[in-house]
Amino acid sequence: MDYHQLITGRDLWIGGIKIPHSKGALGHSDADVLLHAICDAMLGALALGDIGYHFPDTDASFKDIDSKILLKKCNELIQARGFKVINIDSTICLEAPKIKPYVTQMQQVIASIVRVTPEDVSVKATTTEEMGFVGRGEGLKAYATVLLGSI
Ligand SMILES: [Zn+2]
Repeated sequence: MDYHQLITGRDLWIGGIKIPHSKGALGHSDADVLLHAICDAMLGALALGDIGYHFPDTDASFKDIDSKILLKKCNELIQARGFKVINIDSTICLEAPKIKPYVTQMQQVIASIVRVTPEDVSVKATTTEEMGFVGRGEGLKAYATVLLGSI
């Protein structure tokens, strides 16, 4: 699970795709909430800590880094332990904009990095019915579950 604040003057990257919007996600990296949630799920499945442990925001080399690079590094970490991704389920919680037009592209990007087929990457999106920080458009969050198998 991951969440980020939405502010003006930042690009909005979700699932490795840049989405046109009046606000973007605040973070040390490109703040891609979906890729971060997937990274954390992959690391968590092998009890390897979290994304903040492997890629600390105190490290200048990760400033504004493309989170696709972080996902690739996480995939290498699990492969080094003898595991690979079998499939992924994920949910983005966001009030606006609509995510549906970008889902196919996100599936393709994520699948190519973790070396599965796009059909093995589920990307769902929901609003929170105007409730809470997501509903007020102050931020967004994402949940991910990853199934790993032995190489
Ligand atoms: Zn994040």
